[in-house]
Amino acid sequence: MSDCLFCKIIDKKIPAKIVYEDDMVLAFEDINPQAPVHFLIIPKKHVPTILDVSDEDKNWLGHLFGVANKIAKEKGVSERGFRIVNNCNHESGQTVYHIHFHVLGGRHMAWPPG
Ligand code: AMP
Ligand code: ZN
Repeated sequence: MSDCLFCKIIDKKIPAKIVYEDDMVLAFEDINPQAPVHFLIIPKKHVPTILDVSDEDKNWLGHLFGVANKIAKEKGVSERGFRIVNNCNHESGQTVYHIHFHVLGGRHMAWPPG
């Protein structure tokens, strides 16, 4: 989608610190990290929110979590623990309407979240 920030990152029209890429997903460092490890993982398909996910998305969705798992291990947070967050719509704090999963680690995470 031409006016989507994350589609522009996928198309390399906007730079990002890419940590993983394949034909289905892209992972890159969050520009405003909230933890020592904070990267975003997105499908290359433009899907605005988790409410727009359907059965036809099961391939990239399952794959995306496998990739998140692999990167968390590579970054050394898997044993300590980490958090995967998806914000959906405005009350959750979603600001970019291309579905993304935050992966946060490297510090203690409070619960409940703010
Ligand atoms: P959310 O508030 O859940 O929609 O998350 C959007 C995230 O995208 C925020 O954590 C931002 O810091 C991050 N972000 C915004 N612009 C960029 C960018 N150009 N590169 C990397 N991360 C970004
Ligand atoms: Zn997009």
